[in-house]
Amino acid sequence: MIVDVQNDFCPGGSLATARGDAVAAGIAEFIATHRADYDFVISTQDWHIEPGSHFHPEPNFTSSWPVHCVANSEGASLHEALEGTEFDEAFFKGQYTAAYSGFEGFTLDGISFSNWLRNHDVEDIDVAGIATDYCVRATVLDGLKEGLKVRVLSDLCSPVDEKTGAAALEEMAAAGAEVAAA
Ligand SMILES: [Zn+2]
Repeated sequence: MIVDVQNDFCPGGSLATARGDAVAAGIAEFIATHRADYDFVISTQDWHIEPGSHFHPEPNFTSSWPVHCVANSEGASLHEALEGTEFDEAFFKGQYTAAYSGFEGFTLDGISFSNWLRNHDVEDIDVAGIATDYCVRATVLDGLKEGLKVRVLSDLCSPVDEKTGAAALEEMAAAGAEVAAA
């Protein structure tokens, strides 16, 4: 499960994380070399139309943010390192509200991520992406709540802030996720 590896969350984007480019390249390489180990590879994207107070002209970078990942914009596109990667499904979240967790995502056909996982008998997920301390964290904690076995590929995640990113990895481990470098 590749969370929000989008241009706006990478260097040059409106809400860049420092390791975004490196993580995008690392994820592309990991999928290319480990594809056979997985039944499915899916992506999520932050996909905002009018998300209310999630956008703010004077953001606090905790619950309000600069404009980012506007639906169908270049900033909302997946990082170019992933151009050659084939995903089995794509999930979009946050059209009219803040949405950190991939479990708030839907396919373009309107199937929720949870239902899709159930329909495909998925019980274990590996998670990588951006940002460690926000959308990866929320996705992993929701996955554990749904009863899934969750592994976080920690070196393939990029945080907004190194300190809160490290704390988030600890929190995910304490909640029951396996946290390990890919
Ligand atoms: Zn957002």
